[in-house]
Amino acid sequence: MITVMKFGGTSVGSPEALKRVANIIVEHESQKKVVVASAMSGITNFLVSTSEMTNAKEKKAAIDTFNDKHINTAKKLFTGKILDEFMKEYDERFDKFKSIILDGNKKDPYYKDNVSSQGERFSTLILSYVLKSMGVDSVAMTSEDCGICAEGKPLNGCAVLDKTETLMAVKLKPLVDAGTVPVITGFYGMMDDDKPLTFGRGGSDYSAAVIANGLNADMLEIWTDVDGFMSADPRMIPEAVRIDEMSYDEAAELAYFGAKVLHPRTIEPVRMKHIPLKVKNSFKPEDPGTLIHHLGRHTNELLKSVAVKTDLCIITISSAEITYRPKMVARIIEKMSENDVIIYSMSTSLSTVAFLIHNNDVKQTMMKLNTIDAADIEKIEVKNDVALICAVGDNLLTTCGVSGDIFSAVKEARANVEMISEGASDVSLNFVVPMSKVTDVIKILHKKFVSDKQ
Ligand code: ADP
Ligand code: ASP
Ligand code: MG
Repeated sequence: MITVMKFGGTSVGSPEALKRVANIIVEHESQKKVVVASAMSGITNFLVSTSEMTNAKEKKAAIDTFNDKHINTAKKLFTGKILDEFMKEYDERFDKFKSIILDGNKKDPYYKDNVSSQGERFSTLILSYVLKSMGVDSVAMTSEDCGICAEGKPLNGCAVLDKTETLMAVKLKPLVDAGTVPVITGFYGMMDDDKPLTFGRGGSDYSAAVIANGLNADMLEIWTDVDGFMSADPRMIPEAVRIDEMSYDEAAELAYFGAKVLHPRTIEPVRMKHIPLKVKNSFKPEDPGTLIHHLGRHTNELLKSVAVKTDLCIITISSAEITYRPKMVARIIEKMSENDVIIYSMSTSLSTVAFLIHNNDVKQTMMKLNTIDAADIEKIEVKNDVALICAVGDNLLTTCGVSGDIFSAVKEARANVEMISEGASDVSLNFVVPMSKVTDVIKILHKKFVSDKQ
């Protein structure tokens, strides 16, 4: 049995946390274990700001801060021969890091990927040496060492799954079969030209799913700082409760629409190989966490969980009888796709078509739309600062009157529903409200449909 265990930034964020995580790995009953880790908490943000520095003195200070953080952590965790061995590998990685910060080519579109992915190289090295100091046969491996291939735009890559699986069969699988515990960098893969490409913020969950896919693992465990997949973001709703079991579809929709506990693309690589996924709390390893798998039976919860995607915007294009002119709609979508803009929702009426996109994509989208012949478009309106609420539940779409109940809760929050998508997915009801009302709506929905039902 192969288990891939991924630990997030907070779980590897201090010497105490690293020790706790090493104990979880050692005590885990799986025969073969593969570990994936994020950078220590705060490090990726620090690297993102470092990548924007131009002043050499500032860069040197950043290099020193980065070095102190990792060396001090390591020295609190192991000493003697293990520390000496660690320093050899550390120096090699650190020399490369220094030259990227001091001499890297800032004009390279993938420069930020290179800088921001550096933190994982050091957290994994430390964790591997903690395991060694506990007598475990462990090796620290980078994404390039084990063959994770990536493609896509800067800061937004995705894995090339078939190529990764082929490479892993040679570079990683034999080690795992021999009982070694590899500790692998999350967050990025390598492009064809041997440059690192990150999978977007929070991408180590996705890395772990890609590794589980490549190894045909039996289980993927995402170890984080909360009790599992919860009924809402516990930072927004402190009374949120842990969900015992979810289907791949439910988890995928919620992750895509903002449940930060899983990177939006985590589910697909494991779903396609039928690999179950557990979300567990590294601060409470004895707790059961949440199991995500092919869940056949219903659990009878009307509302299981809500997620929110913030900072969105509605673009409404008016054109006479546009729905009778499908080619016109196709042209609009084609224009938007030239910028790879993600459309989170779409609705049409006789003379309008409306798209929900991220605030950051508005400027480029407007430029593209303005290239369409003015005679074809009457007006384009932009409604800024809206958010999409994704509500997932077993009976949400099949029980008569539930959407009515949901919208009456929205009314209680005095929020206007700007857009609705019901029926597009089998498991979720999505609707758009102004950003200023999001917290109120979620609080009321959660109280009525989750807390009051406990
Ligand atoms: P890690 O560093 O372990 O990857 P993240 O910070 O990326 O952890 O994700 C965990 C956080 O996700 C939690 O601390 C929580 O605030 C947030 N979160 C948002 N929605 C949910 C949800 N539905 N269930 C659990 N956590 C959630
Ligand atoms: N360290 C990266 C980030 O902070 C990836 C991750 O944590 O999953 O986004
Ligand atoms: Mg995360």
